[in-house]
Amino acid sequence: MSRTMLVGYDVEWWGEEPITPRFLREARRLHHALGIPATLFIVGRTLERWEPAFSEVASDPLFDLQQHTYSHQLLKTVCIDDGASVRVVPGIGLDEIRREVRRTSDLLRDRLGVECIGLTGPWCYYRGLRDRPDILSVLHEEGIRFTRTDGRNEHDWHPVPLDLQPYWYDLAGFPDILEIPVHGWHDSTIRAEVLGWNDLDGYVRSVTPYIDEAAAQDKVFSYLQHDWTSIRDDPEMTATEHLLRYAQERGLAFATYADYYRAALSSRPREKATARLS
Ligand SMILES: [Zn+2]
Repeated sequence: MSRTMLVGYDVEWWGEEPITPRFLREARRLHHALGIPATLFIVGRTLERWEPAFSEVASDPLFDLQQHTYSHQLLKTVCIDDGASVRVVPGIGLDEIRREVRRTSDLLRDRLGVECIGLTGPWCYYRGLRDRPDILSVLHEEGIRFTRTDGRNEHDWHPVPLDLQPYWYDLAGFPDILEIPVHGWHDSTIRAEVLGWNDLDGYVRSVTPYIDEAAAQDKVFSYLQHDWTSIRDDPEMTATEHLLRYAQERGLAFATYADYYRAALSSRPREKATARLS
């Protein structure tokens, strides 16, 4: 499945303002208008806070629901070097990872009837989880079969090039877990720290080269937005609409992350999918 754009929203707002319900309403309107599927990676606390809004989207065939941990703790420590300063943000331990993931999968199952198989790692990390088979082991035991954790460059910064295409965690010993990296910049970072929140045109121009490259080179473009960023200074999601239409015009296909994972699994040579390296 190449020449494809995967749209994933990290849904993680739990403040007082009804940001998440507003976002879900606008995202559903937009995606239905364009006929484009998307995945919501949901923080457990956010699901508890805005459950009625999620109940509606849970039965929407255009949307796939996966998780983003219970309280947005980092799975892995990041040492962010943005060229001007270094910030270290610590990851949590394995027991806490298990609690965070299990609690959210339980919420998705009990409240929305959704079986969770995918996870976006809060903040994302350089190399994803290739250097952390211990974390992969916990995720595997908790039923996770695709991750979206590789989303920082060698400085734990951005952007991440499109050359980094989805890969199986063979060498870490988990050939049945697929990593689907996040490309480019995190929208929250480039809009807050580089462009300014109201520079929507600049933001769109920062993303379209990835769409062009995916179309020209038959690649997958895995794209990240958030609930709170999607409607910040853009309540009707016009920048998102522009990007999605642009990708349609360039002939990209769209899939949910879960459908992309299932297609990758079914096209994988059988011996590879079942082999477990020791
Ligand atoms: Zn997040």
